[in-house]
Amino acid sequence: MKTRAVFLFALLVSLPASGETITVAAKRLLDVTTGTYVENPVVRIENGVVTSVEKRKAGASVTLDLGDVTLLPGLTDCHVHLIGRDEQTPYQRLTETTAHAALEGAVNARKTLEAGFTTVRDLGARDFADVALRDEIAAGRVPGPRMLVATKSISATGGHGDLNDLPEDVHVQRYSGIADGPDEIRKKVRENIKFGADWIKVLGTGGIGSANTDPRQADYTEEEIRAAVLAAREKGRDVAVHAHGTLGILRAARSGVRSIEHSSMLDDEAIAVLKANGTFIVSNPLTNATMLERGAAGGYQDYQLRKSREIYGLKVESLRKAIRAGIPIAYGTDAGVQIHGINGRQLAMYVEAGMTPLQAIQSATLVAARLLRMEKKIGQVAPGTFGDLVAVAGDPLTDVRLLESPQAVVKEGKLVFTRR
Ligand SMILES: [Zn+2]
Repeated sequence: MKTRAVFLFALLVSLPASGETITVAAKRLLDVTTGTYVENPVVRIENGVVTSVEKRKAGASVTLDLGDVTLLPGLTDCHVHLIGRDEQTPYQRLTETTAHAALEGAVNARKTLEAGFTTVRDLGARDFADVALRDEIAAGRVPGPRMLVATKSISATGGHGDLNDLPEDVHVQRYSGIADGPDEIRKKVRENIKFGADWIKVLGTGGIGSANTDPRQADYTEEEIRAAVLAAREKGRDVAVHAHGTLGILRAARSGVRSIEHSSMLDDEAIAVLKANGTFIVSNPLTNATMLERGAAGGYQDYQLRKSREIYGLKVESLRKAIRAGIPIAYGTDAGVQIHGINGRQLAMYVEAGMTPLQAIQSATLVAARLLRMEKKIGQVAPGTFGDLVAVAGDPLTDVRLLESPQAVVKEGKLVFTRR
């Protein structure tokens, strides 16, 4: 009997979404726009796209009855790195082949999907392995979230994407596009787009993970960041800038980037500039919390743990300020720096920093969708959006931690995970 159930489940999961109609029923559905519940909803999904959300009529049969659960739209993580194994030391990372890293990416993609995240923005990978993973997932050959990818992060010489602890005669080019000055930066942007980038990632300040960089210091001038923004815009792409320190944040926001990653040191001036430019921030306190919790066992070096400790409090304080100021905050965890599959754990940290549970959920749905310019496709359950659903036991507005362990996940009308 058990074997048969497993077989049926495998069959269900392997069914193609195209040309299919599925109706999903549950006890309730959270409307993430209003924070209200629809009781006994039936979500109809045709060819992977939602065509209607209605109340279930008495006795009406459905394809998939998930029972006493609350449905939400599939979640979005706007900052992940799926390629490569997590919990590696910098030396292990250097010895990992791209083939191995790409296969690990498939494992990580599945973990992310099963955590309820049906869309991700991957902000930096080696050798365009993220493009391959994105395309395999889109073709339905590898299970995983829908991906938007940034390919190689663009870094200044000696910046966060450079390998600053290696001697001068050791050349490693796989991780980042090293570029200095507007001309080189424009070329890197064009190269990344040529090989498949949906987004452009620029490393605007030092970072925690890199040796011999200071997160407080800016790595690029405003002129350099603006060159990236203009070159990206010409091809219909947006720029995300990694920036911890205030100067890097100011330069990025003034250059017209769409999102600032980490945004660890916001002062009043930075808040005003973000507001004036409509810049999103993506704050990831989960990374610091898990780094410090795992320590050396997680592969982290002493200098990484020291910087993580220094930045953690500042980042949380900046997040509080941004929430109070009404800056759009899109959900992003930097998964890959910490292990994959725990993406939902940061929701409670956003609530602790001052968001309501609904606002935290909106950061991973509506706000994330707006950042990605996909608000008609993801972030809510409405006709025209992808049939992406996450089901939790109970009321997520009372306990946002329910989203840390979903009961079921549906992507484009296919049941891709169930806890039962
Ligand atoms: Zn990152």
